[in-house]
Amino acid sequence: MAELTGGERAVALYASDMPDRFRAGVVTDTQVAAWIVQGAERVGLDELRRRAEFSYGHRLLEMSNLVPVDVQARHEQRFPKARRLFKAQQMASGTLWRDPMTPKTLARNSAAEVEGGCPCRGTKSIPMWADEDVSVSRGCPVHGRATIRHHRAGVAL
Ligand SMILES: [Zn+2]
Repeated sequence: MAELTGGERAVALYASDMPDRFRAGVVTDTQVAAWIVQGAERVGLDELRRRAEFSYGHRLLEMSNLVPVDVQARHEQRFPKARRLFKAQQMASGTLWRDPMTPKTLARNSAAEVEGGCPCRGTKSIPMWADEDVSVSRGCPVHGRATIRHHRAGVAL
């Protein structure tokens, strides 16, 4: 589990046998860990990573109110149950203090991508409006982020 990011754990939980609804406190840590393993096996690690990156990319755009209609549609197709996704994200973040990510996994934790093309079109900046004299754009929340890298003794972890 330490090899999975919080986002990947959430995607795994979403794909697992975790019920849509259950009372808080009735589920043991062992059960949650078992669902994560089950979901990860069901989806496969490559696909798990892919979905986690898309999910985080969607969230970053959403926080800036910049989700294009087609990106929203793909997101809802991938995660039709919004409440379940929220629950899965909550449960996944609850596992992080108990089963922290390895440094290598942590370095992948901020990976985000937009399926089918980001509104910035790879330019890292999103045009907001333009007239003949002035154009205004803003940094892309997905691709324009300052990247934080962890180094130890000159070696990228
Ligand atoms: Zn972008």
